[in-house]
Amino acid sequence: MNKHILIFGLFILALMFSGCKGSKPGGGFNLFTTQQDAELGLQVKNEIESNPSQFPILSESKNKEAYNIIRAMTNEILNSGNIHHRKDFAWEVKIIDDDKTLNAFCTPGGYIYVYTGLIKYLDKEDQLAGVMGHEIAHADQRHSTRQMTKMYGISVLLSALAGNQEQLATITAGLINLKFSRGHETEADNYSVHYLSRTRFNCAGAAGFFEKIQSQGGGSPPQFLSTHPNPANRVENIRAKAAEKGCRMNDISNQSRYQKLKNLL
Ligand SMILES: [Zn+2]
Repeated sequence: MNKHILIFGLFILALMFSGCKGSKPGGGFNLFTTQQDAELGLQVKNEIESNPSQFPILSESKNKEAYNIIRAMTNEILNSGNIHHRKDFAWEVKIIDDDKTLNAFCTPGGYIYVYTGLIKYLDKEDQLAGVMGHEIAHADQRHSTRQMTKMYGISVLLSALAGNQEQLATITAGLINLKFSRGHETEADNYSVHYLSRTRFNCAGAAGFFEKIQSQGGGSPPQFLSTHPNPANRVENIRAKAAEKGCRMNDISNQSRYQKLKNLL
């Protein structure tokens, strides 16, 4: 995928410009520093937003109300008190005006992108909050840079940075298949529950998203699942995590704000 190649190019660029200092956050060694996640994310954001044919960002000036709603939602999650890098990362939210794409993603450093296709597909604020929590977790837990460190190893990354073109090419080719590991997916699902447990949203909202997909029966699976490997029993895992935490598992009763958001797009 072009996006992967692009993002990988930026990873390497970020490494070249910012050098390599090791850091060791919980849950896996990471060659990159938190600051490098932030710098890398900013470069990716700039690249995305200078490519409107692939990423048509919904105009903010013409869609203030829609942006107000999506940001209010996101801020409820970000201000849950459970975001580890709340103050380190940008945590910006943009809507991508593409009804055909059922997806959302978050770059390292907290630049969040939600497609109109996903917003329109879902029925409830809780479902979208669950997906947002999941995406926020990928950035907050620094999964991209942990994955890069694990995939290529420090010696290869350092060698590539030192100008080994052959290794650089190998890494670039491998990036086409770069996906979050199953472990990182489960971790992001679990953190979605953790974040939402201190909001008014159903803390198992992400399970609602997968249930919605299942209820649709056949057809082609949403793009979210092609960029996110879909381990079996995800709904069960999310519900079990929510039960373990004892957080509220009912959808919020008034969904009028979500309907309003959908109507605005
Ligand atoms: Zn994911």
